[in-house]
Amino acid sequence: MNIDYNADVIVVGAGPAGVSAALEVARDGRKVVLIERAKYPGSKNMYGGAVYTTALREIFKEDFNSIPYERVINSHTWSFLNDTGSFDITYKNSSATSALAIKRFDLEKWMIKVAKKQGVLFAPNTLVEKLILKEGRVVGVETEQEQYFAPIVILADGVNSLLARQIGLRADFKSKDMILSVKEAIKLDKKTIEERFNLKDDCSNGVNKQYFGSYFGNLKEYKNLFMMTFLYTFKDTIMLGVGANLEDLNKNKLNLNQILEEIKLHPDIAPLIKNGQTVEYSAHLIPETGYNKMPKLTSDGVIVTGDAAGFINSVHFEGTNFALISGKLAGESAICALEKNDFSNATLSIYRKKLEKTFILQDLYTYRNIIEKLYERSNSISIYYPKKIKELFEIIVSANCISKSSQIRKYAMSYFKDRKISELFKDIFSAIKCVIDVFFGK
Ligand SMILES: Cc1cc2nc3c(=O)[nH]c(=O)nc-3n(C[C@H](O)[C@H](O)[C@H](O)COP(=O)(O)OP(=O)(O)OC[C@H]3O[C@@H](n4cnc5c(N)ncnc54)[C@H](O)[C@@H]3O)c2cc1C
Repeated sequence: MNIDYNADVIVVGAGPAGVSAALEVARDGRKVVLIERAKYPGSKNMYGGAVYTTALREIFKEDFNSIPYERVINSHTWSFLNDTGSFDITYKNSSATSALAIKRFDLEKWMIKVAKKQGVLFAPNTLVEKLILKEGRVVGVETEQEQYFAPIVILADGVNSLLARQIGLRADFKSKDMILSVKEAIKLDKKTIEERFNLKDDCSNGVNKQYFGSYFGNLKEYKNLFMMTFLYTFKDTIMLGVGANLEDLNKNKLNLNQILEEIKLHPDIAPLIKNGQTVEYSAHLIPETGYNKMPKLTSDGVIVTGDAAGFINSVHFEGTNFALISGKLAGESAICALEKNDFSNATLSIYRKKLEKTFILQDLYTYRNIIEKLYERSNSISIYYPKKIKELFEIIVSANCISKSSQIRKYAMSYFKDRKISELFKDIFSAIKCVIDVFFGK
């Protein structure tokens, strides 16, 4: 094939996956062009707020020390909401530095700065409209303005990945396999945040809260809704957002904005954001295709990485680390093909083998059925158990002059009265199945 290539590798999308892939290729002394549709990197992207230092250090090496983070996140709370309060589990570690709160715009700006320093050619404000194929192999991209050619194209174009769909690497997504998420950035002064969350003024600590359950407000009426709410503390901003399965939202005719408004009124959350000013509102999809519905990861001349390949663990809010490491492996695989001067799918499939040796495919495999189980049992997790937990704790904490044993017996019997026993067994079996999956993993 006689093609005048403009670069060794073209990477589409300058999120964590794309930057990491481009950096890897540039560090090998190759010519790499990183194309991003946004005028300012990060302006099209959205997330909760935590990046993980292990992956960042591995990708950015000594440059990691200049990352413009706002707080170290070292307090984690899992909170099960009910109509008047919550049941919380908090884990704090004052010396932990594994997660940092950083605004998405700042993260991308910094990543691009490092990438450019290492020789990556960055083309912002450039939408790739389609892939160019010759003799069945991807050989370049077509943008609104011009065509660029390279023997390998890495697709790091995020959750929708129209380009992977264009060449049949993945099917059109189904609403069942997507979470829709909305988030508000709520501004408060720094001192108020520190007082409300018991934080130090040197930003050496910060809070992440994950809320489960919808047994409150009008949401109580919706039986099949599994939603996860998150809150992160930044320097002078609180990020508050919620995600729910797109199909569940459609079936229940629910609007995520309304859900977020309900959440903001919850007695546990309202005082934390009181008098805050919403300065940013964003929405984004999260892929939940997981291991079972993973797209084809390579084809002749092309590799798919990051969210575009569905590499995310939404149970643990881990996405950027999956993107960074999978991007690096995509870069390594491209280098391997360049060394061999063989850009066939057979050579590029080394990418999958590399992924299999990491937490990426191992965790995706471990969690392959867990999300589905959570959705199947959504009514139990979101409504039934938050209610039962509340009832149990009311017995424990109320000095109501009724014997504890009679209350506990009545409470235990209520499990068999309130609901079909078969539902109870289904909950138990699902929980056991999830524990077995996590324990044995891959
Ligand atoms: C609500 C929410 C909360 C989250 N919270 C967290 C969290 O706290 N921690 C965490 O680690 N992860 C979190 N994630 C997940 C994380 O944001 C993603 O997994 C991660 O950003 C994926 O990186 P990526 O590079 O694959 O894709 P993206 O970051 O989506 O980047 C894709 C890039 O490609 C560009 N692009 C797309 N199409 C084209 C095209 N045709 N031409 C040119 N450019 C194109 C886009 O503009 C974008 O810049 C969250 C996600 C959401 C939605």
